[in-house]
Amino acid sequence: MRMHCDNKRLWALYLFFLFLAVFSNNRDSMLNRRTFLKTGVASLPLAAAIKALPEDVVLAGESIADVAGDGATPKLVALPPRLAPIDPNTLPWQQNIRRVGQSNMTEHDPAVMNIEQWADYWHAAGADIVFISVTGILAFYPSKVKFQRPGKFLNGRDFFGECVAAAKKRGMRVVARMSPDLNWGDALDAHPEWAMRDADGSVQFSNEEPRLFRTCMFTSYMDDYVPAIMREVNSLYDVDCFYTNGWPPIGSLPDCHCAICSRLPPPNTAAYWRIFNDRVLELWHKYDAIAKEKKHDSFYFANLGGNVRCGPNLDLLGKTAVWFQADNQGRTYDDPAVWGCSLQGRVCSAVMDGKFAANVTAAYSTGIVRWRNASKSAREAKMWLNETLASGMALYYHFIGSEAGLGEDRRWQEVGSDYFRWSARHDAHLKPRRSIANIGVVIGQSTQLLYQGPAAAHSQHYMRETTHGIYEALLAGRCAFDFVHEDQLDLARLTKYRALLLPNIAMLSDQQCEQIRSYVSAGGSMMASFETSLYDENLKQRSQFGLADLFGISKAGDVIGTNGNAYYGRIERAHPILAGFANTNWIPGAQNRVPVKPVQDPVLTVVPGFVQYPPELAYPPVSHTDEPAVVLREMGSSRLAYFPGDIERTYWLTGQTDLLRLLHNTIRWICRDESIVQVEGQGFVELFAWETTPGYAVHLLNYTNPNAHHGWLDSAYPLGPQTVSMRLPAGVKVKSIQLLRAESSIPFQLKAERLRFTVPQVEDYEIAAIDVE
Ligand SMILES: [Zn+2]
Repeated sequence: MRMHCDNKRLWALYLFFLFLAVFSNNRDSMLNRRTFLKTGVASLPLAAAIKALPEDVVLAGESIADVAGDGATPKLVALPPRLAPIDPNTLPWQQNIRRVGQSNMTEHDPAVMNIEQWADYWHAAGADIVFISVTGILAFYPSKVKFQRPGKFLNGRDFFGECVAAAKKRGMRVVARMSPDLNWGDALDAHPEWAMRDADGSVQFSNEEPRLFRTCMFTSYMDDYVPAIMREVNSLYDVDCFYTNGWPPIGSLPDCHCAICSRLPPPNTAAYWRIFNDRVLELWHKYDAIAKEKKHDSFYFANLGGNVRCGPNLDLLGKTAVWFQADNQGRTYDDPAVWGCSLQGRVCSAVMDGKFAANVTAAYSTGIVRWRNASKSAREAKMWLNETLASGMALYYHFIGSEAGLGEDRRWQEVGSDYFRWSARHDAHLKPRRSIANIGVVIGQSTQLLYQGPAAAHSQHYMRETTHGIYEALLAGRCAFDFVHEDQLDLARLTKYRALLLPNIAMLSDQQCEQIRSYVSAGGSMMASFETSLYDENLKQRSQFGLADLFGISKAGDVIGTNGNAYYGRIERAHPILAGFANTNWIPGAQNRVPVKPVQDPVLTVVPGFVQYPPELAYPPVSHTDEPAVVLREMGSSRLAYFPGDIERTYWLTGQTDLLRLLHNTIRWICRDESIVQVEGQGFVELFAWETTPGYAVHLLNYTNPNAHHGWLDSAYPLGPQTVSMRLPAGVKVKSIQLLRAESSIPFQLKAERLRFTVPQVEDYEIAAIDVE
């Protein structure tokens, strides 16, 4: 093993190498960041040592290759024929936007913000468009709309108009930003019907500013007040489009008991969700028409996000929105992992079909405790921007308030402008045409919003944990995957996928079950878990799984949870999904399971759970049953795997490496080891592979970091060589491969359509941009 380092760094490098070995995606030593942190005693000094590691230390190529090269020849599937080129001039203007800037304006900004500095900053950074606040609770211009009161520091000025003029003078487009979610007491006195109300009739007020009440989206507030502001802005200014902050709700549905809402179906039911979606679309179309009253290419868009838990139906939004605004600004307490932005990007990619999506990166301090006017760490902000690009969205950088001219804290500014300017040099490669992934993960949006898990584990976080479990497993397995929305399961969309994964997609309609049957009849493979298809689209429980026939399963009883020691899967016979499990008769099951009837020749059978404390009782009273712990099937070229346990979520809760191995083995088995792109090397990375206009782009996000699962990134821990293999369509030749972060070209081999090249180093992010002819 040779290393590029001096003696002083040898100890740190040794520890780093250990770290890499622990986090490797090597099939024999799979561990992940969380598991590692939870192993306790050993982790602390190592993590501290890693933190102390200089950022410029990289392992030599030879040493990585020794570890990573397992000699296995990937079964690469040829990429589909390339798409016909598109002239960007024929696209709607917003589809050519690559950089969005926003200094979110406060009431105080008219007194303190330096408009010239503001416009110069965003212009020099290369922003194509900036957000300028109109708002709804106070006006940034002399407004005649009743209840839109002038800000305290406006003093008759047309602050909005001055900002619009400064942006336009520099060639930047303008989004007029409104915010309809709150309003003041005088509006409430005049229009008590505008307020959201609790079940006892009391008005719902803002938690932080009790003088502001929460407005109800079903009332004339949205029909009259918001359009009045839009029309006034359109009459006075040259804006390019309109946006509403604060509506519709993100990640949950409203719970309002006003006069109108009390006549609607109960909140958090499928029936309510349908009416909610209808209302969102009604208002969206109405506002869009108002935007177009002045300019035909203007449009309206709303604040969205919440990844797979988006409030409005994502399929309908994808068909309606021309700008998906992903308000997913940083990690949260509920979503603490580093991949929060790319998870959102995969959702946008699933439903927008190439239309514009931008993810908002907060340059300010996000988290459960917030500082809206202080910068977050540069590493964390940059990783969010990296994820934005990698997952196919446009960059969007956001700070709040311009005290002292353009912020008391200006550390965020160079971070954003440097990143924007770097990206502008590579726009052609950074804008995807389509994903080339061959695994589809079904987004069960109704399950995410309405189903809260089995009685044994009832929680609004239940599905969130499921999502992170499958997501982490796919990252650790370096899988190229897409999300597929539950309302888009038509065969035409699914045929590109070798396998569909259904991580506890509890709610599926008869029609959706039929679409999945068609996919399998056409040769597609599937992996599903737990209560998948046990409920219909109204969350009505079926007596039998909707997909029982497909998987060859039959429900034998109600969900069984864990009281102490969870159940095991006893190994009954050898099978590829059990590769690597030696020297044990059983492996862990999951926290909860649906008991299913015996099947012929099972691979794993359930050893029911028992007491974990006191240890005297920690043994199985029943050590062998014929209840299957997995049901496997082969039909033609399809392979099907069903786990009766909530295996993905249990993996997220525990980091149990056997569960990860079982998931990886099973995904490989159902895919018949076929992959569309292989990236071999050390480290915990997220991978994206796109067809682009010039060729292809393989994005590697390096999450090998002590802060991958919690908190912010503060340093990068560079990875050594990553070897990429893909099989190009017949006749496609490679002109060059460039690394966009390193800004250098690398050699490649192309033999019989098989392209192979090595990215020598990945600091936090690297993109291999492949130019073809
Ligand atoms: Zn209401």
